Amino acid sequence: MADDLSRFEDAVILFGGTFDPPHVGHLVMAQLALEQTGAASVWFLPAPEPPHKARLALPFQTRVALVEALVANYPRLAVSTIEADLPRPSYTVDTVQALQEAHPAQSFVFLIGADSLAQLPGWHQADVLTRRVPFLVAARSGFPFAPTLAQTRRHLPHIQATAIEMPILDVSSTWIRARWEAGQPVCGLVPEPVQAAWRKWRGEAGSNQGIWENRG
Ligand code: ATP
Repeated sequence: MADDLSRFEDAVILFGGTFDPPHVGHLVMAQLALEQTGAASVWFLPAPEPPHKARLALPFQTRVALVEALVANYPRLAVSTIEADLPRPSYTVDTVQALQEAHPAQSFVFLIGADSLAQLPGWHQADVLTRRVPFLVAARSGFPFAPTLAQTRRHLPHIQATAIEMPILDVSSTWIRARWEAGQPVCGLVPEPVQAAWRKWRGEAGSNQGIWENRG
């Protein structure tokens, strides 16, 4: 366990995302964050209406089912649908506040990819959010940790962000959806139980039904 991460041993790791669909990158970063902090659990927080994504492929309930399939074999990974009960769009600052109010004795740390660290200054009430919770940052292609953090700190000087050790896994939900839609295999990119849940949803939704839902 990396020494500087052990201060999060008693924290719950919060992992917000769209998970459209969840993939191996999400799973690996959650596992490595657990391993390196010694924390007891990661709570995945699928967003019903993420502010920064205009178009969603899969409805919220489907994304929840897919994340549940992703974590099913991992007792330290859990799914929280708290954002379903919060105002839309789903702002992380509101989610963290709601969780802190619901669990006043519990400390939290928020897990993000380095691309999200770069975007953080544009998040709703980023100043409040970064005073409210520290961050764990997973490596992502194109966003080296130190310069990305330095850039983010120009806007959010008090942010607390620590990198987890992780090889770059250059996969994204966008790329995986494109492969799936083109009929290309997603083997190894999306764990089999998630693929099964996804196939089930496609079957139930009907093969002629487009998977895109547009939001204004
Ligand atoms: P999209 O392709 O739609 O942008 P995504 O693959 O980034 O999707 P999200 O659900 O938006 O998936 O990601 C949730 C969080 O996980 C974000 O903080 C994102 O930076 C991080 N993340 C996703 N994939 C990876 C990856 N391969 N490596 C590191 N971090 C990742």
